[in-house]
Amino acid sequence: MTELLYRSDAYARDCTARVLAVNDAGSIVLDRTVFYGSAGGQPGDRGTIEIAAGSVCPIATTVYDSDKATILHIAADKSASPPVGQTVRAVLDWDARFKLMRMHTCLHLLCALVKFPVTGGQVGAEEGRLDFDIEDASTVDRETLTVGLNALIAANHPVTERWISDAELEANPGLVRTMAVKPPIGSGKVRLVVIGENGVVDLQPCGGTHVRATGEIGPVVVTKMEKKGKLNRRIRVAFA
Ligand SMILES: [Zn+2]
Repeated sequence: MTELLYRSDAYARDCTARVLAVNDAGSIVLDRTVFYGSAGGQPGDRGTIEIAAGSVCPIATTVYDSDKATILHIAADKSASPPVGQTVRAVLDWDARFKLMRMHTCLHLLCALVKFPVTGGQVGAEEGRLDFDIEDASTVDRETLTVGLNALIAANHPVTERWISDAELEANPGLVRTMAVKPPIGSGKVRLVVIGENGVVDLQPCGGTHVRATGEIGPVVVTKMEKKGKLNRRIRVAFA
């Protein structure tokens, strides 16, 4: 099981770690990492693993192993993989990660404005999208959403977290907005992401990485609203 440093500090850009395993396909297991493993619509991180004597192993992406607890750093060039037992430095492609944090947090705001069930979503470094089942699509339009998002961003609401037990979550099913992504239960406790004082803007279980305050997102624009089904609408947001 990998120690997930981004859980306690999403702003950690690098860390030292020990190489526990390297498999034939070039995936590298470290004892701890700042790399986010692809989950919940947020892609895995890119970056490098710096090995002693100046050699560097580029990491193309990061995923979870089948045990859902071990992070696999996928080497872009497996011949550059570090030896097992080596102490290395794991360094994020911070520009890419920070954009993902900004867009991911922005999608929470979209969720707060569109009060319908979420059926899917994807976070990208330039664009993000959420799919909703919307009873009456005439109640939702791009311009109003763009204005609403930028107002929540400009208000610079704090983004914090709170942990609750699995039982508390089960007792409050209204907290779960995303039907497509199961909340991360099973470990006994669940992380709630809290936007605004006491979650006045948004409050929901999430295991992703977020900015500390909504102002860090910067201006955005709702670029598209696509019809995906009778009720289903895909809403796309991009950085302005
Ligand atoms: Zn989130």
